[in-house]
Amino acid sequence: MPEVNSVSGPLNTSGLGFTLMHEHILVQSPGVKENFPIFDRQAEIDKAVQRLNDVQARGVSTLVDLTVANWRDIPFVKEVVAQSGVQVVVATGLYWEVPHFFRAQSGRSVDFIADLFVRDITDGIMDTGVKAGIIKCATDEPGVTEDVERLLRASAKAHRATGVPISTHTHAASEVGLKQQDIFEDEGVDLSRCVIGHSGDSTDVVYLKKLMDRGSFIGMDRFGIDLFLTTDKRVETVVKLCDEGYAEKMVLSHDAGCYFDWVDAELRPKVLPNWHFNHIPDDVIPALKEGGVSDEQITAMTVDNPRRIFEAQGSY
Ligand SMILES: [Zn+2]
Repeated sequence: MPEVNSVSGPLNTSGLGFTLMHEHILVQSPGVKENFPIFDRQAEIDKAVQRLNDVQARGVSTLVDLTVANWRDIPFVKEVVAQSGVQVVVATGLYWEVPHFFRAQSGRSVDFIADLFVRDITDGIMDTGVKAGIIKCATDEPGVTEDVERLLRASAKAHRATGVPISTHTHAASEVGLKQQDIFEDEGVDLSRCVIGHSGDSTDVVYLKKLMDRGSFIGMDRFGIDLFLTTDKRVETVVKLCDEGYAEKMVLSHDAGCYFDWVDAELRPKVLPNWHFNHIPDDVIPALKEGGVSDEQITAMTVDNPRRIFEAQGSY
């Protein structure tokens, strides 16, 4: 039986269950909490455990935490996993705002970066004993810049060396998912091993079908970020694609976080009231059913597709 690296150790893919494929336990701006007294660690752990208990009570058993390497705090995630019992898969990889250390001008090669990602997957992240189970990479509105391309290629190389899946961040409006696929293809990647993320920010089914027709899964993974697109519109798009037979190629998530320092903690629920882990079980799934999506299609998007994404394994 295939296994996936999780925070609590190797996990049989058949035990993944209802999986949210793009979430975050903690997202922190690098260097802030180490230098200013802004972070009450124990209080944040308690809050995170509560949020994970709440979502587990709704039938969710696994979260894929796609926090990039320079924003993560694996000991924090370990503690939250130990206290909540939720299954969490963490990522290696870097964001589209490429740290100076990894830029072309640093003189460090793509292979050097790929080796660091591989180490996170095969040996574990620093001395935490936790191994990454997925590779995250990102392309936003500026597109595939030279430095972003280096990270996409390093991610592809690390994927081919380890077999763990790739999951991306995109700016859907500029259709950069297709450009990511071009680079992955150029690196010899089987596109069915990739999730093109944040595709649910788009209602353009022609673009979305192109991504899936090339073999990839797409992440309808920002439910609750109403500022980008309302839940109604996101639901409508998923319903349309299910009607056309694409339930086997979509996964659902929120891109939400427990601790997320980009927005003030008091302000966040006021601006984005639906942006939390419970929105899909509480509101989105009932709305999809009302739109005519079958129970089998819901199971495909929440259970079967995540399992298939992690089940395909091996280097090549
Ligand atoms: Zn994210």
